[in-house]
Amino acid sequence: MDNYIVSARKYRPANFHSVIGQKSLTVTLKNAILNGKLAHAYLFCGPRGVGKTTCARIFAKSINCMKLHPDGEACNECESCKSFNENRSYNIHELDAASNNGVDDIRSLIEQVRIPPQIGKYKVYIIDEVHMLSSGAFNAFLKTLEEPPHHAIFILATTEKHKLLPTILSRCQIYDFNRIRINDIVEYLEYVAQQEGINAEREALNVVAQKADGGMRDALSIFDQVVSFSQGNVTYKSVIENLNVLDSDYYFSLTDLILQGNVGKCLLLLDEILSKGFDGQHIITGLAAFLRDVMVCKDAETIVLFEVGDALKGKYLQLAQSCPVNFLYRALKMANECDLNYRISRNKRLLMEILFISLCQLNQPLQTEDDKKKTVIEPIAAQSSNETGQPTVQKDTVPVSPQTVLSNLPKEDLRKESANITRPISITIKKTIKENQETKGTNSSEDRQSELNEHFTQEDLISAWQIYAQKEEDIHLKNTMLNFSPLLKDNCNIEIVVSNPAQEAKLNEKIPDLYSHLSAKLRNTTIRIAVRKEEPNSPTAQPFTDKEKYQFMATKNPNLNTLIKEFGLRLD
Ligand SMILES: [Zn+2]
Repeated sequence: MDNYIVSARKYRPANFHSVIGQKSLTVTLKNAILNGKLAHAYLFCGPRGVGKTTCARIFAKSINCMKLHPDGEACNECESCKSFNENRSYNIHELDAASNNGVDDIRSLIEQVRIPPQIGKYKVYIIDEVHMLSSGAFNAFLKTLEEPPHHAIFILATTEKHKLLPTILSRCQIYDFNRIRINDIVEYLEYVAQQEGINAEREALNVVAQKADGGMRDALSIFDQVVSFSQGNVTYKSVIENLNVLDSDYYFSLTDLILQGNVGKCLLLLDEILSKGFDGQHIITGLAAFLRDVMVCKDAETIVLFEVGDALKGKYLQLAQSCPVNFLYRALKMANECDLNYRISRNKRLLMEILFISLCQLNQPLQTEDDKKKTVIEPIAAQSSNETGQPTVQKDTVPVSPQTVLSNLPKEDLRKESANITRPISITIKKTIKENQETKGTNSSEDRQSELNEHFTQEDLISAWQIYAQKEEDIHLKNTMLNFSPLLKDNCNIEIVVSNPAQEAKLNEKIPDLYSHLSAKLRNTTIRIAVRKEEPNSPTAQPFTDKEKYQFMATKNPNLNTLIKEFGLRLD
């Protein structure tokens, strides 16, 4: 390891030809040199690590070369070139404005500008991160930039062009550097690996390039890191482990589960990924990037935008075949929204789980346009009560609010999760409950589409009924419900026979709620609920008024009648 030189320095391009990913720009610069049309100030803009300073140095070397090649490249042999390559040339000055941004720093630079070069024709001043100069320094510099000596050339470099004053911009020739394409970075890394005698899988280098986000310098630094970690054998597995990148296999599995609508397994897989220590937001942005890659694979025209690498391409193409394009558009939109909301969310895990639940619903064939309309929670229609407290539902529509926003969960998941998630229903009951019973046969087709009609037994009914009763806050109603069980009759008719009008009224009031609860629990929207008071002469009739209670007690104990007589009592 003696004299170890980091790859970013060792493999820094020495001529325009070896600059990666900035072809049109380097050609323009070479032509300017060949034609002798040099400006006094250049502005190189672009993201970090894409070759701005490197190009500035090559440019400085080339314009001073004494034996320039006909193609505009420096000879690397003349005295000037040698001094540049050995970092001892006096014709190049670099100022890092990030750390030297004061007026004094600029003044000392301006002092040097006046001195002409001793060998070569031009002195080149590179000011890196020029947007960091203080306003005082800018003003001091502006005058020199307006009237520079003929031997001085300024190359200003910045990652943030928008922060520069228009007076600076208008005095410069502007060159915009591109983010380097993933494939270009991968190819260059392959070349470096080959030169260093390192065994590297192309997929592994692809992960490095993705991580570097278009910057060659970063890519080379990351490359050094994974080489030392994997001891010269750079495999895909070692790289994703070292860089803490989520294996694309996970995204393939998640997408498969989403397409199947398998909420349960999807949430379990998400849990597995989170338990490996991956950051939630990384998972979301990774999923979005993955879906984007699948999307560009769908179309022969956009496949040029696919940069993941050839080894995985077949897998992506295959998945793209089974993803409807509408699914991909909507899934991307949802993932992006989740990403935006992630930082401000107070329950980030829930936010992610909601995303996956919603994604699982996207591709469900059951989800028709009509269903979607029905998942909208409608405002509760005004209900008016008459004086007896008996509800009279007058509106044509009695909306039953979905208990939760989740709909169309697959049945197996529901059963598993029924403790936590009550299956939502979104039903619009046309007409009042009673009218509904009468007009049952003539329901619109819209109604029938959301119809659930699962078989259930008297026991199922009782247990669903009791769940509701236990949660009821009105103690009288709760007792009524616990004392009077519903009876399942033919054709999903449910009858509750109570013993007095107050109970009947209370239960009638609750019918919309009860309907919502029972139809969800029983997965049957064709149920009809009727409440009635038992016949007064029925053998099971319960006494309600005081007189009835007395008569009831007297039948059990005839001595009561004697008591009344003896004491001359009166019953009002
Ligand atoms: Zn030369």
